[in-house]
Amino acid sequence: EAKRRGKNQYVIFDDSMHKQSVDTHNEEMALARALERDELVLHFQPQFDLSLNKIVGAEALVRWKHPDKGLVYPDSFIPLAEQSGQILALGNRVIEKSFEYLAYREALGLYPILLHINLSSLQLNDPNLVPFVKSMVQTYNIPGHYIGFEITETTLLTDINHAKETLEELKSLGICIAIDDFGTGFSSLGQLKNLPVDLLKIDRSFVWDLERDKDDRMIVEAIIAMAHKLDIMVIAEGVESNAQLNMLREFHCDLGQGYFISRPIPQEQFNDFPESITLNDLLDA
Ligand code: C2E
Ligand code: MG
Ligand code: MG
Ligand code: MG
Repeated sequence: EAKRRGKNQYVIFDDSMHKQSVDTHNEEMALARALERDELVLHFQPQFDLSLNKIVGAEALVRWKHPDKGLVYPDSFIPLAEQSGQILALGNRVIEKSFEYLAYREALGLYPILLHINLSSLQLNDPNLVPFVKSMVQTYNIPGHYIGFEITETTLLTDINHAKETLEELKSLGICIAIDDFGTGFSSLGQLKNLPVDLLKIDRSFVWDLERDKDDRMIVEAIIAMAHKLDIMVIAEGVESNAQLNMLREFHCDLGQGYFISRPIPQEQFNDFPESITLNDLLDA
């Protein structure tokens, strides 16, 4: 009896495993086709300098223009790409599109921006990353200091010595190194001081409730003060209101990014995005 039940359970388990692996296989095939057919596009979210009241940068955020499903967001395909290893091809495509866009902006005479690109840990550990970036700098004739890479704390902590070496090579190309979602991993500013970090992105979970949560205010203010002592600039993500923006300014936060300034927008729309922005512009939008 026990043996029979065991066997049945095994069969059920096996079926669901099989279905799961077929699903995964199909998703991988779909993503491979997307890369082949060039269905990935970048949207750009402006980054705002809080003392200059100017757009000085943007974050490139990948989307999949799916032929049936419409616009598909990265949370539903980046994890899969990381598991399958396709993140290297996808990531290189994102890097190339970013350089391509900067060259296009320059050709149009649009104001210069520092364009931030998200990097997965597999990419940071890819021995081809630095040579690939060097080749992009050459091909598009865009110096590294127009590019930033956003890396999460968890990515850094997997192999901190190797990460340090790669970051230093990127740094020597002029590339800005940013720590994404800062505060959600478990690194400390003490660990960061040994890495060539230029920018901390305070995670939006500390920003959304800034007006009501005294602890969040204290944490954000302390992160900014300590980062500045280490010569690291700070950007707040997820800025959704004028009150948050004012508070961040009061804490001497350098930059802000979030829906209050602009959602991530398609290229054509970002081309027309004004460089200088007044509070009235933001409140009217
Ligand atoms: P992230 O790098 O932390 O990007 C910020 C996410 O927050 C974006 O979601 C953005 O649309 C959203 N966001 C921006 N402002 C606000 C705001 O004011 N309020 C709220 N509630 N959300 C805001 P998105 O575009 O869906 O991207 C999700 C994540 O996917 C990114 O998180 C990043 O980790 C990853 N990702 C996006 N593009 C790439 C890429 O090219 N390569 C890799 N490896 N990962 C990427
Ligand atoms: Mg990011
Ligand atoms: Mg982030
Ligand atoms: Mg975040």
